Amino acid sequence: MEVTDVLAWLNPWFDKLIEEKAYLSDLDQKIGDGDHGNNMARGAVATKEALETKAPTDVPALFMTVAQTLMSKIGGASGPLYGSAFLAMSGAAKKTDDLSEIFAAGLDKIQQRGKADLGEKTMVDVWHPAIEALKTDSLTQETLDQARETTTGLKATKGRASYYGDRSIGEPDPGAESSIYLFEALLATL
Ligand code: ADP
Ligand code: MG
Ligand code: MG
Repeated sequence: MEVTDVLAWLNPWFDKLIEEKAYLSDLDQKIGDGDHGNNMARGAVATKEALETKAPTDVPALFMTVAQTLMSKIGGASGPLYGSAFLAMSGAAKKTDDLSEIFAAGLDKIQQRGKADLGEKTMVDVWHPAIEALKTDSLTQETLDQARETTTGLKATKGRASYYGDRSIGEPDPGAESSIYLFEALLATL
């Protein structure tokens, strides 16, 4: 796997996060503090800049730059979660080219850090089914649409959204949505 292969989905993900900044923050306004789009767009702009300033020579180094930039620029819950995911993906990419294994290492770290299980209405509810599909080369738009629908119907029991209790049911989860953009960008290159 080459740096250019990874940039082919990372850059469109960053562009989408920047484009959907207002929408993601609107979602977070309903079941959070309204900053998810601003957080992710800030991280996306900074990471694009970092990658342009110092072009990474291999995939582990690329994921490392993404991890460090997201962690230092995003803050909130999602910064450390996405940041540590890409940190673990950097480690995994030293050992394998298999995207399902690389993303699985990222998900493990998200769960270690955030302590969320499947069904708690977080980004985990997108990463998990997306990775299961990647394992069998069957990731499709339907996988992601289904994950969104399922996550929307859940009650939040982790993060700020959990303060909303039953009122979170029926609202899309902002972090799930930004993760859907990630896997959509990846899907477009498969
Ligand atoms: P904050 O809640 O600190 O303002 P953001 O708004 O940037 O952070 O991110 C909120 C998103 O982070 C949620 O929509 C959810 O998907 C994700 N999230 C929050 N807590 C957790 C957790 N413990 N595990 C996994 N994901 C989480
Ligand atoms: Mg927020
Ligand atoms: Mg916040």
